[in-house]
Amino acid sequence: MSRKAFGILICFILLITSVFYIPIKTKSASIRVYVASHGTVYHADYTCRHLRGNNYSSISLGEARRRGLPPCSACTGNIYNPSASISTKKIYVGETAKIKLNYVTGNVVWSTSNSNISIVEKSNTKGKIKGIKKGSTTLTITGDGCIFKVKIKVMNVPATKLKLNKTKCNLVVKKSVKLKAKVSPKNTTIKTVTWKSSDEKVATVNNGVVTAKKEGTAKITAKCGNVKATCVIIVEKYSYSEQGFLVSAISVGDGKKYKQNESVMCTTTIHSKKTLDQVTLVFAKEGEEDKWIDFTKASDYRGKKDKYSFDIKLSDFSAGKWQLKNIVLQDEDGSMEVVRGFDTKYPKACFTVE
Ligand SMILES: [Zn+2]
Repeated sequence: MSRKAFGILICFILLITSVFYIPIKTKSASIRVYVASHGTVYHADYTCRHLRGNNYSSISLGEARRRGLPPCSACTGNIYNPSASISTKKIYVGETAKIKLNYVTGNVVWSTSNSNISIVEKSNTKGKIKGIKKGSTTLTITGDGCIFKVKIKVMNVPATKLKLNKTKCNLVVKKSVKLKAKVSPKNTTIKTVTWKSSDEKVATVNNGVVTAKKEGTAKITAKCGNVKATCVIIVEKYSYSEQGFLVSAISVGDGKKYKQNESVMCTTTIHSKKTLDQVTLVFAKEGEEDKWIDFTKASDYRGKKDKYSFDIKLSDFSAGKWQLKNIVLQDEDGSMEVVRGFDTKYPKACFTVE
């Protein structure tokens, strides 16, 4: 590398360093220098060989400059002004900033105006501070004949991302679900999440717990700082099956005895998302084939009025005990479901033909 290129490189490095370090203004930086009674130069060092044997007095560097005195060439290096520079004046909680000191002598004292920052490293040449909590503080560095004061702003680490464990959720009226919010980054200092429902009549939210109030759709919004996330809550009146049906009650025969020329009344409550088109009751008797009885267009409504009653004529039933085995449901859109387990869930959904 040529000398010129090396020089440019050094200049470049100095420039970069100065860009990243903010000089701290000296409040009352003063440095003492020494002047011989008839001296034409000032000395940084009173032991300077050029001062030896002379009467001298101590004045401030500023005073020496005002008098137009040039520095002594033998001790020039020691009279540069003391300085302090900081890498940044704005830090996040948990972050650090470095301070460089130049030509600060004596017993250097580091102090802060409050506990918003802590001094984690300190010496005569450098120091390091750490953001503890949001707010402003003044860092004071006192050296021999100089004092530096720097205002430092400590900021909270904002949330940059918010994620919910669900983005869509089906809920039955009166039921609740707990939504969990995850705030990123991990070191964020603002962790408080606020919750809001787009329609409190449909669903309310309290600290992430969503409670379904009535049929409809509500959007739950979680917010942390400037970031948010949403979850769509679909409130249904009943806990329908995947196919959209729910049989909530049934009574058929009540375990009683009937004659073959009689009929048995079946009353049932069937909730269906769409209009119920066909209901098939399946009865079983030991040693005999299952008996399927269809009721078509049993209803042309949905919602409140979902109670049905059917008359089952027993002329086709052989003598013995018949148990309701399952119910086959079909809606107007052709969605079909076989609901099983009535023999255990409704053990009295049976009758005996004499
Ligand atoms: Zn000198």
